[in-house]
Amino acid sequence: MTNLFIKYILLNMSANPLPLPLTLLLEITTRCNLKCRHCARTYSKIAPQDMSSQTFSRLEDIFPLVQTVVLGFDSGESFLHPYFFERFRLLKAKGVMVRIISNATLLDSEMAKHLVKEGLDSLVISLEAATPNFYNDIREGAALATVVKNIRRLNRVKKRYPYLNRVLLMLLKLSGLFSLDRVSKGFNRKLINLKVNSLVNRLAGLPMQLAMLFLPLRFSKKLTNPVLSINFTCMKQNIHELPSLVRLASHLGVDFIVLSALTEDNPWSRGRAVAWATLQTNSYFHAAQKISAQCGVKLVIQEENFSLKRYPLTQAHVGLTSLTKRLIKDCPDPWTSTYIRIHGDVHVCCYSPVEMGNINQQDFRDIWNSPAYNDFRQKLASPDPPEECRRCPLRRWIEI
Ligand code: SF4
Repeated sequence: MTNLFIKYILLNMSANPLPLPLTLLLEITTRCNLKCRHCARTYSKIAPQDMSSQTFSRLEDIFPLVQTVVLGFDSGESFLHPYFFERFRLLKAKGVMVRIISNATLLDSEMAKHLVKEGLDSLVISLEAATPNFYNDIREGAALATVVKNIRRLNRVKKRYPYLNRVLLMLLKLSGLFSLDRVSKGFNRKLINLKVNSLVNRLAGLPMQLAMLFLPLRFSKKLTNPVLSINFTCMKQNIHELPSLVRLASHLGVDFIVLSALTEDNPWSRGRAVAWATLQTNSYFHAAQKISAQCGVKLVIQEENFSLKRYPLTQAHVGLTSLTKRLIKDCPDPWTSTYIRIHGDVHVCCYSPVEMGNINQQDFRDIWNSPAYNDFRQKLASPDPPEECRRCPLRRWIEI
């Protein structure tokens, strides 16, 4: 109901140009190093491609105005983009929060250092098991041991670069003195970068007394970036792994685990999803909840993701129920986020195939407030939603 409330608030605001989305879901690459059995990408014919510099630069003045940019949301392993570091650095220089969803198999020492130093805000690691058998089988090309090793290494790097120093660095960058924009316009970029680096080094070597003062901050899990979480896709075949996964997450310093429902959108996944009612009575789930309470790794479960109500209703259903109770899709996405694909096509979400425009041809702001986008919003907020929303398994139906 909260989503619905937000949606109506935002809908009322749509008389004027709608404020820019809170979240940009950016597909910077379609490359992936794995072929996971439960992933729709494995069964599609998506060519491995990257978002070009020209397309990415079309969003540069938008980045400071949104709250979060999410990389690797739908498909693709962002670390495989040939200019990943540059893209990531620019996002951070613009003051935006960055969340990366990754399989963590490519999170080597260099990558970990870079992400922590530049201030990655959140890293979501897709992990479906705590023991190698199921993991190695479902994620063709990956090994659980590598992922665990990579997370441990990331934690060591986090301890070396306390959050406080990174906050100060970010503030300095935001102050404009060291903004990359300004650097690239008026100064010798290398020289200024050297100055920034030496400043960082000095900050890292704060006098001992000051370091002691901020010791609690340095060792507080909650105050170190990136926030680590695990996305666990529930399947009939791996639910028994959940208690061990909570224990493993606790040892790995993970902040929380999100339980997501399997989307049965490929031949392998069909019949493997766990329904909400089954999850509620599952003994492994209960065991995981107990361990979670003991070790403090939160289990985040969104009931609507498991609800059967998210599956398509027929036209007859909608028509019939609209006589008595009205049903609408409970989805805030077209008001709060947007999905931009590698070639610049803008979609309301990762599920909708409809292109609202292309950022290489139009300013993003014009697309976001275009008649087509607004029509989509109006329809979605009605009992007669767009066709893809009718079929969409990501959001549930609710009565109004
Ligand atoms: S297709 Fe699904 S996620 Fe996308 S706008 Fe419609 S209901 Fe929301």
